[in-house]
Amino acid sequence: MTSVNFAVHADTIIPVSGTQSVLNNYSIVVQDGLIKQLLPSTEARQLKDLDHVELPGHVLMPGLVNAHGHAAMTLLRGYADDMPLSAWLNDKIWPLESQWVSSEFVSDGTDLAAAEMLLSGITTSSDMYFFPDVSARRLRAAGLRTQLVFPVMDIPTAWAADAREYLDKGLALNDHFKHDDLVDIGFGPHSTYSVDESLLSQTAMLANELDAVVQIHLHETAAEVLSHVEATGERPVDLLARIGLLGPRTQCVHMTAVGNQDIETVAQYGAHVIHCPRSNMKLASGTCPVKKFKDAGVNVALGTDGAASNNKLNGLAEMQAASLLAKLESKDPTAMSARDTIQMATLDGARALGLDHVTGSLEPGKSADFIALDFTHLGMEPNHQIESNLVYANLGSEVTWSWIAGKNVVKNRQLQTLDSDALHHKAAAWRGKLSP
Ligand SMILES: [Zn+2]
Repeated sequence: MTSVNFAVHADTIIPVSGTQSVLNNYSIVVQDGLIKQLLPSTEARQLKDLDHVELPGHVLMPGLVNAHGHAAMTLLRGYADDMPLSAWLNDKIWPLESQWVSSEFVSDGTDLAAAEMLLSGITTSSDMYFFPDVSARRLRAAGLRTQLVFPVMDIPTAWAADAREYLDKGLALNDHFKHDDLVDIGFGPHSTYSVDESLLSQTAMLANELDAVVQIHLHETAAEVLSHVEATGERPVDLLARIGLLGPRTQCVHMTAVGNQDIETVAQYGAHVIHCPRSNMKLASGTCPVKKFKDAGVNVALGTDGAASNNKLNGLAEMQAASLLAKLESKDPTAMSARDTIQMATLDGARALGLDHVTGSLEPGKSADFIALDFTHLGMEPNHQIESNLVYANLGSEVTWSWIAGKNVVKNRQLQTLDSDALHHKAAAWRGKLSP
């Protein structure tokens, strides 16, 4: 696909907008990277002066939004499993990172992550990791729409020596990408247990000045909340509220260890929650009460977290896990329907990232960020209900085509912006280097 003007004809479209949740025998018409219109296929096939892509047996939908991740950690997939969060971080991940993380590590790991995300339908990703300048370049080169939240901390790493350098480099990154159509920059203080109050306050001030987003791991485990309360007498979310770091541009990642008062606080300040069900389950961190947050009016998005704690970056698998876990957690099978889950993985994710005017649904004028899924395999039969199949019966491998800002990034299951063979070779080299 080289043309900037084209039409894709499929059996079904899930637009995540408008009054109809499913449009049968419809097409998407794209002009100059934007969605021009959704039309019945009989009409769209008559259009002249554009390329036509026929995808029988396929469903078209908005690309998925992965609202929280650490792409480069894909090189640590399966390196340390079956451990609780604190031991996993302190005994395994942080020591390994201090030894190995470099611009080369981040470049190769991010490319691998980008490939996996694209092939599972993710078109927008958020990333929090060292060398965010490298991640931003690599994710952009892969064609992904990206929110990069740069690390804010006061621990020397290969990327920055102290808090001043983290902030200086992050702000320079923000300047560099100020007018970029695919990359947005925000602040990524890791957590309230790894960043002290004065640096969090400074982050709040700078983020307010720049009107930038802030993403932070928050209330990830009960132990984290308990130790903070014991040390300070305050709950972590209340600390953020007190210092001006909780608001409509704040993305609270995890939120598993919460009481009703925490849910009310997040709702009152208009902050967003990013739910990472597979990471929370694997680390046995806890369960985010998604239904309670949504009932309180809080926007909840979906994230994979890093491949070191998931262990995959598959947008379809994450949707499936989110819906099932919400039902189990609330003991209510109606807690999160297939339709609710699809919206969480698309439009609500875009909303959390402040990008819902650009992406997250199929509407004229929005960016042409959409995917095609092959629904012809036996595991989908007899295909009574498209949305149900998409969430509950997906194998995670249905995505065949993907476009971001109208650019074709996956074609017939083949990556168009990354070299699969080169990725295998680089991964093998890192397996050799990192082997314990
Ligand atoms: Zn994380």
